Amino acid sequence: MDYDECMAVGFTPVDDDLYREIILDHYRNPRHRKAVEPADHHVEANNPLCGDEIDLSFRVRDGAVEAIGFTGRGCSISQASASMLCESLTGMQLTDAEALTERFRAMLQGDEVDADLGDLEALRGVRAYPVRVKCATLPWNAFLEGLSGRNGAAGS
Ligand code: ZN
Repeated sequence: MDYDECMAVGFTPVDDDLYREIILDHYRNPRHRKAVEPADHHVEANNPLCGDEIDLSFRVRDGAVEAIGFTGRGCSISQASASMLCESLTGMQLTDAEALTERFRAMLQGDEVDADLGDLEALRGVRAYPVRVKCATLPWNAFLEGLSGRNGAAGS
């Protein structure tokens, strides 16, 4: 079972049992794990340091994320993060989605974040491991790239 290279090789990026359960649940039962059809944004992202691959697609309607999904493979952190992203951003206004993405990235960079990030806080523990931070932020960076890459239609 390759399901946990990150955690099996002797260090545990997340040492809180509850948070680890949240991450593993998203890894084993990923939400929105399918390509969105039709999609108006499509981003392939990879993290060569770990071998993670994320293929993110989403559709924007009326200034909101109407549908978002991913496919790909990689470590538990990257896949769980992608699942959490899709769950969090579905139905969200783009401005809110961008703000949440920025807060999430700030949290992983070690900044103090006062906003309540809910289950996303489960990934906070990876910030001590720079390589794992890249795993966790991969899908979020892909989302921002998708927003900025096409038509700039992030109308407020
Ligand atoms: Zn990874």
